[in-house]
Amino acid sequence: MKITSPIRLKDFDPDFHDGLDKDATREKTCKLCERIGELQHLLYANADRSVLIVLQGMDASGKDGTVRRVFDCVNPAGIEVTSFKAPSHEELAHDYLWRIHKAVPHYGNIGVFNRSHYEDVLVVRVLKLQPESVWRARYAQINAFEQHLAGNRVVVLKFFLHISKEEQAERFAARIKDPRKNWKFNPDDLKIRAHWDEFQKAYEEAINRCRTPEAPWHIVPADHKWYRDYVIARTVVKAMEGLKLKWPKPREDLSKVRI
Ligand code: AMP
Ligand code: MG
Repeated sequence: MKITSPIRLKDFDPDFHDGLDKDATREKTCKLCERIGELQHLLYANADRSVLIVLQGMDASGKDGTVRRVFDCVNPAGIEVTSFKAPSHEELAHDYLWRIHKAVPHYGNIGVFNRSHYEDVLVVRVLKLQPESVWRARYAQINAFEQHLAGNRVVVLKFFLHISKEEQAERFAARIKDPRKNWKFNPDDLKIRAHWDEFQKAYEEAINRCRTPEAPWHIVPADHKWYRDYVIARTVVKAMEGLKLKWPKPREDLSKVRI
């Protein structure tokens, strides 16, 4: 759901799936994903703008799964995925948007941020990595940065993958139990989980302060992976179709060309 007025996260049900049927919805999602592939082709042919998709959410909310499923019909050459981890020494020696701006997709491409500059008002706030005066100033800076991108033909779509604390516990348990998922389990994730309520508050404020018409936030119910994929794919298709891209006209009269 696109956020256009102030919200409280507790009013949003992570389990919501609109009463839809799982298998039928998965089929629809497949078609939407194919459509994203076609639309990226058109974006590439025009090469005068890009689409930036920001994925945020608690651990195990499905950011990696979204990248895998929603963009699997896009030409690999047309997609730029960047996962933002704790900043390196070099990154810390620059302003926090430096690494972000460098990763903005080329015109013609779709970029996906798996985590983003929002970590600088989320984990940085909750774990007190910077004083409040520093992270609080960032909401306005982020809005100015995203407005700058939008004004330079970068379409920004932000998704908060909203899972429940119970669903996160189940997904962590599966990571511990299933040998194929063991590698995903990180004991540090439990330390972050212990701050669940503070993170929800930080997300709520980030969404409320940075929901601009140029760079809207969408809250995605994410307890059901199939519904999460459907909502994101549908939103991306709608935004890209809204660009009304056409195949570019030839630069010269092709009827006169002899090969
Ligand atoms: P994962 O996405 O599970 O691979 O984990 C990446 C980790 O990097 C998460 O714990 C994030 O909170 C952390 N991280 C990402 N960006 C920042 C940042 N700007 N400052 C501190 N930690 C960050
Ligand atoms: Mg993780």
